Amino acid sequence: MKLLQAKLAKYDEPQKAKALGIYPYFRAISSEQDTEVIMNGKKVLMFGSNCYSGLVNDKRVHEAAIEAIRKYGTGCAGSPFLNGTLDIHKELEQKLAAYEGKEDAMIYSTGFEVNLGVVSTVTGRDDYILWDEQDHASIIEGRRLSFSNSLKYKHNDMASLETQLKKCDPDRVKLIVTDGVFSMEGDVCKLPDIVDLAHKYKASIMVDEAHGIGVFGEGGRGVCDHFGLKDEVDIIMGTFSKSFASLGGFVATDKIITNYLRHHSRSYIFTASITPASTAAVSKALDIMIAEPERQEHLWEITKFALEGFREMGCEIGHTETPIIPLFIRDNNKTFAITRDLLNEGIFVNPVVSPAVAPNDTLIRFSLMATHTKAQVETALEKIHKVFRSYGLVK
Ligand code: PMP
Repeated sequence: MKLLQAKLAKYDEPQKAKALGIYPYFRAISSEQDTEVIMNGKKVLMFGSNCYSGLVNDKRVHEAAIEAIRKYGTGCAGSPFLNGTLDIHKELEQKLAAYEGKEDAMIYSTGFEVNLGVVSTVTGRDDYILWDEQDHASIIEGRRLSFSNSLKYKHNDMASLETQLKKCDPDRVKLIVTDGVFSMEGDVCKLPDIVDLAHKYKASIMVDEAHGIGVFGEGGRGVCDHFGLKDEVDIIMGTFSKSFASLGGFVATDKIITNYLRHHSRSYIFTASITPASTAAVSKALDIMIAEPERQEHLWEITKFALEGFREMGCEIGHTETPIIPLFIRDNNKTFAITRDLLNEGIFVNPVVSPAVAPNDTLIRFSLMATHTKAQVETALEKIHKVFRSYGLVK
């Protein structure tokens, strides 16, 4: 065996989980991706999607995407910098800028690439990136690619953030980067306090709205809008892979910043722009989120119902108040086995282990969509109760 294969062959965690019959990943869906999906020929209730708006199966969004393929074709075959810009990309950028109340916006091929290409680019040598220890992996990768100093602060801990801010040279750029809603545990960043600290230390702020859009704020604009602090946040990013029911991502910010990014951000320049279908789907989903606030209202109703249900059941759900509900298990194999048992009961949830969370914070991530009915949530609570009881996790 060559050295490369010999080295990588030592990684056998998946094989061990497969031998125990608890390997939980890459399960294929063979149907529409709504609240009910088909897996392995069987109907399953989907409680693992990030499409909080529930628009992934909306026929109006589908039609918009089909129309765009008819007009522009299936791909763009180039960077937005060169041949890959369509008029609908530019229109969507303007729409997103207006949505987030910023001067300009840019579309990237994924949300991951937004964080990679923004966080790594806007700060330079001798500057500082201050980041929450539970920020998304893409922020962490962007920070790793940056030449600036990296200062991690404890999760949502403002004293820890201030300690780190005090370490910075007052005359250098300081960028605080935080998830708006934390992706695995569903808690919300303390934006008002972050804004106060940013004023005190002349820092800039970037908020990742991946899980805030479609959930918080008017028309689903996100956490910054919810707190009335959009103007205080310098850089807002979001992804199209969740409430926008598509694929891609955006950053909304000042023209000074987009001008720099458009000409320096490598994950923007050196990759092809998003497909016409993806672009049109986002645009339509955005219109629907603004026009139909009742979707968001329903999402909150079922979220409160589910939160109450899990609390009554005696589940450990951390500090969430959002449609992302972590059910802490704190053991990898048990998390995998429970995920399997729930699937056998017709409930799909996501197992989350390190490095997505700290090694002791292993959890089952239960997430809601605006299209779930209360009856579906009731069924899920019942089945989860049954399976959790069999593991001695609840009474
Ligand atoms: N930020 C956060 C907080 C996320 O959860 C994700 C995706 N899980 C991303 C960024 C990346 O988004 P995308 O799926 O568009 O790459």
